[in-house]
Amino acid sequence: MEDCIFCKIIRKEISSEKIWEDENFYAFLDINPVRKGHTLLIPKQHQDYIFDIEEPLYSGLFRAAKSLSGPLRGATGAKRVGIVVEGLLVPHAHVHLVPIENPGELDSSNAKKADPEELAEIAEKIRALL
Ligand code: AMP
Ligand code: ZN
Repeated sequence: MEDCIFCKIIRKEISSEKIWEDENFYAFLDINPVRKGHTLLIPKQHQDYIFDIEEPLYSGLFRAAKSLSGPLRGATGAKRVGIVVEGLLVPHAHVHLVPIENPGELDSSNAKKADPEELAEIAEKIRALL
């Protein structure tokens, strides 16, 4: 979709700290992470609402989330990887994958603009574990 910010990321018109991609999905770091390693996983095909995604793409999205969870935990030392699906700001379906330690850490009010160097450093650590 022409004006969609996440479609622009997939087309490389906007830069992103890529974690992983395959033919259907793309994962990259959120620029306003709530926690270190906060990752967004998106389908390459534009779709606004996540629950409108048809099978087999829908299950594929959550299989990809599962594959990313190990490297995310490994790179951050987090206890778990939490999932948030909101999509109220960017109308291109996405899953937030957030390394967490304590209850409440998924709260989007914890979001803070990250330093690009810090993003590059954590992305490298995650990619090394894929
Ligand atoms: P929401 O649609 O409410 O799930 O939130 C959209 C998320 O996308 C927010 O966490 C933003 O920080 C994130 N975001 C917006 N633009 C970018 C971008 N160019 N690169 C990385 N993350 C982004
Ligand atoms: Zn899009």
